[in-house]
Amino acid sequence: MTEKNFEIRQFHTFEEILALEGFVNKQPITKEKYKKILGHYDFDFDVKCCLEKPNSRLCNHDHQFGFVVRLQDNSVSILGNVCAKNHFDADTNIRKDLFAYNREKRRQEKFERFYTLLADKDIALEKLKVCLNSIEEQESIVLDFYSELEPLLQNILINRSRDRSIAVYVTLTKYFKGEEKGGYEYIEKRSSPTRLGSLNSLRVFGSHYFSTAKHQLKKIRRAFERANNIQQAIKTSELEKLSVEIAAIENVDKLVDDTKIDVSSFFSNDLSLLCYLHPSPNVRFKTARVVLNRAGKECGKSKAKQWLIEKDLQIKHSNNADKIIIE
Ligand SMILES: [Zn+2]
Repeated sequence: MTEKNFEIRQFHTFEEILALEGFVNKQPITKEKYKKILGHYDFDFDVKCCLEKPNSRLCNHDHQFGFVVRLQDNSVSILGNVCAKNHFDADTNIRKDLFAYNREKRRQEKFERFYTLLADKDIALEKLKVCLNSIEEQESIVLDFYSELEPLLQNILINRSRDRSIAVYVTLTKYFKGEEKGGYEYIEKRSSPTRLGSLNSLRVFGSHYFSTAKHQLKKIRRAFERANNIQQAIKTSELEKLSVEIAAIENVDKLVDDTKIDVSSFFSNDLSLLCYLHPSPNVRFKTARVVLNRAGKECGKSKAKQWLIEKDLQIKHSNNADKIIIE
């Protein structure tokens, strides 16, 4: 690999190339005649490649992107972007130079992109602050609700969030008279699992849900701080990594929106389903109070008890059942 430092020069018009000292129209390029790369062009029209093929004819392919090269006799000609790669061996100087030129060009483009992003640092830092506040606001809405729930139910929500289990099932039992045998009347029962509904977006109770979002925002903030102190000698790979990290600023609105959507989606659930996740009457009753409170309804002890009894009755009636068993 050559260790030359390439000056990257882009020719923006064909006239710029024509004006170069030594430019010769249709001047054949061979690996022996090649001397150095002067720059590259990236037009929105085609120019013809002057690479000389082994059969001594010019390549003549049309290229919008390619290189301007100087030859050993100091003349200047034009080479299509992929032609050297297709026609010359990797160990030729022309291939090595093109590789190094492209690498340096990409490195400079990355620097440019990096400084463009960095120029908006103050706006970005302000935006990060606003986003972090929004996420924390959503987190406190969820935490306020969560902290009122019984620890047994809290665990269930965490486990369900981890297992992505959203359906709420109970077992409904129906009693009915069996056949009379030998003068005895038998009561038979029939039980079946029944789906009451589902609880969407339980992921907001995941132990890392909010911390992951906050961590992402803080990581971008730290990247901006690091970016401020970089030196020109920074390795391209490090610059690239840092660029990717600060470019993540472009996705923070979506991060906040997604969080708001999840939280709002959870609270749009039929929250009475939370009363059917644990069999303990005490847990169910306390959950009923939290759910009523959340809905802005009266949640006194007797109100909550009554509400829960009515919920159970509704389920039994609509499913023609005598008993609800919560597992
Ligand atoms: Zn060509």
